Amino acid sequence: MKYTAQQFIEMTERYGAHNYKPLDVVLSKGKGVWVWDVEGNKYMDMLSSYSALNHGHCNEKIIRTMKEQLNELTLTSRAFRNNKLPLFLKKVCEVTGMEMAFPMNSGAEAVETALKAARKWGHKVKGIPDNKAEIIVAENNFHGRTITIISFSTEKQYKDGFGPLTPGFKTVPYGKIEAIRGKINDNTAAVLLEPVQGEGGILIPPEGYLREVKQLCKEKNVLFMLDEIQSGLGRTGKLFAWEWDGAKPDVIILGKALGGGVYPVSVIATSRDIMGVFTPGDHGSTFGGNPVAAVVGVAALDYILEENLTERANKLGNYFMDKLRTLKHPAIKEIRGKGLLIGMELKEPAREYAEKLQKEGILCKETHSMIIRFAPPLVITKEELDWAFERIKKVFS
Ligand SMILES: *Cc1c(COP(=O)(O)O)cnc(C)c1O
Repeated sequence: MKYTAQQFIEMTERYGAHNYKPLDVVLSKGKGVWVWDVEGNKYMDMLSSYSALNHGHCNEKIIRTMKEQLNELTLTSRAFRNNKLPLFLKKVCEVTGMEMAFPMNSGAEAVETALKAARKWGHKVKGIPDNKAEIIVAENNFHGRTITIISFSTEKQYKDGFGPLTPGFKTVPYGKIEAIRGKINDNTAAVLLEPVQGEGGILIPPEGYLREVKQLCKEKNVLFMLDEIQSGLGRTGKLFAWEWDGAKPDVIILGKALGGGVYPVSVIATSRDIMGVFTPGDHGSTFGGNPVAAVVGVAALDYILEENLTERANKLGNYFMDKLRTLKHPAIKEIRGKGLLIGMELKEPAREYAEKLQKEGILCKETHSMIIRFAPPLVITKEELDWAFERIKKVFS
């Protein structure tokens, strides 16, 4: 039985929860920056699964590595040891400049891991009275979808109906150091931020902000934690977005592209002291650190380094932003971004433009209703960006 695109869509809507509103394009194949739908139409993927596809679709090196592992050993749980996890942990530490790593699967799980580390560190090391630890977060944050994480979201819809919510979080405006200074007290265990707010609408904090937050955290004996799930691994033109501000965190959270576009792999990395709060039985995950995830994670990191994807994102990001800024269309308010994490803010709803771009062969998505995010796989070439620009120009002329 061969289904039509319309039948696939109907089946998804009939049997699946309606928790997304995807573009009505049913994809069946991908290679590099390109994807094909079930009718054979070709598109450029300019969303990259929110930066999970930095390596492009079906990256050959990563798939080969994964296939080899699939024939050897796939899952041990952490009840037993395996011969691939140690290499992954070592690689993550080398690349992040940290001492220890904790493997999980989804980004949200890694964020939860960081929150647990911060709370336990606060109570057991800093000496915060039990159950009093506070974590400072920013307005417009996006850190995932678990109950605890949405508890400190400022997006109303994310929380509506999902309470009772988890207490222990204080929210401050993003980009304002004084706001954090005003909220830090003896019970503050950590500050958790994104170096660039991706889902928030490609919001870039003022230069020096992260450095000041880091300094303040140090003074007050508070952990400085950065969620680099979307901004990390080359996307912004630095391996980690914190490098733009020279503000290395105490705890870094990685996910998305760490899985090479093929498998969920996430991790937190930190110092021996902080990771030392975890003892056997404290926290874990059945699939976290499995051998397939481990080899995929190593291959994903190696590929970014060997192929200079970071450098490419920086150069091509500037090139593409310059081109986008030449567009003079009344609906365009601003082009902003870092590397290949680019936002085009409009003065009107972006969805309609995303649908027009789809007709031109470009897949992208609105974020926060007025912003179009252009974030193609980092393997994209200059010629492919030129191709994309011609299409975008057609829609915005
Ligand atoms: C995507 C994302 C997450 C959540 O990752 P999942 O794998 O979807 O759970 C967390 N933080 C940031 C910054 C993200 O972009």
